[in-house]
Amino acid sequence: MKLSRLVIGVALISAGLALSCSAQNPPPFDGARAYAILQKQCDFGPRVPGSAGHRSCRDYLVTALRGYAAQVSTQEFIHTFGQPPQSARATNIIANFQPEKGERILLCAHWDSRPWADQDPDPANHSKPILGANDGASGVAVLLEITRLIRQKPPRCGVDIVLFDAEDQGLEGAESSYARGSQHFARTVVPTFRPRFGILLDLIGDANLNIYQEHYSLNYARPVVEKVWNAAAALGVTEFIPQPGYAVYDDHVPLLQRGIPCIDIIDFDYPPWHTLADTPDKCSPASLEKVGRVVLQVLYSE
Ligand SMILES: [Zn+2]
Repeated sequence: MKLSRLVIGVALISAGLALSCSAQNPPPFDGARAYAILQKQCDFGPRVPGSAGHRSCRDYLVTALRGYAAQVSTQEFIHTFGQPPQSARATNIIANFQPEKGERILLCAHWDSRPWADQDPDPANHSKPILGANDGASGVAVLLEITRLIRQKPPRCGVDIVLFDAEDQGLEGAESSYARGSQHFARTVVPTFRPRFGILLDLIGDANLNIYQEHYSLNYARPVVEKVWNAAAALGVTEFIPQPGYAVYDDHVPLLQRGIPCIDIIDFDYPPWHTLADTPDKCSPASLEKVGRVVLQVLYSE
């Protein structure tokens, strides 16, 4: 994802947005299990489309989700990125829980990692791929652990989990070169897919966790932001800070542009961002657990 200064054109979100399903106690979230899933993804190496690590990680994620979800599908597309341009097969991975239910919540994250450490302090590293422990693997880790829990104890709403590919192959100054998996999903699936709301997780594993409210989320899906930060406050998770932070062009933006009120939970204050230092030791089980607990609280609340 990238910091954004542009104003996007966004369809108006329905003012009558109702978020409630009905209340249940959420199952306990296990940060250590989530951290092991983060580590597992990093063990494949960088997950750049076209690479062996990318193929192996895709197979792992599909297999893992098939162990939990009622239905799992993949959405493949040809992804062109970089300068000079290269093409590779990219894959969004979609898991549906209780697909018969009409009331649905979307949870999403990106599973690819960036091909270039272009923020690395050493220019010699700028053309090397990052490991993406926080930038990619952290959000996926929390969602995979959530899939295990909602299989054991289904919430009253249906849940759709989408792992987007090709989020992080964008070029500086070209927003639309980011979030390609989400753009593809928004063009092809969203016209017939209307979840009540969505939550995107990105950069949520930092051991030094501080999650401010992201600007596009506030501007176009404020009731969802308030719901999530209220859930965090109720749980005493003070790392969710109820103040505006950055505007980030991320996978939620193409969804917002199609009228899905999807927010981005993102901790953009992460010094190893887009450097070779984005490794598992910068992340912590405790941070994953805090975010997982907040998301579960929202899923099972009301
Ligand atoms: Zn990134």
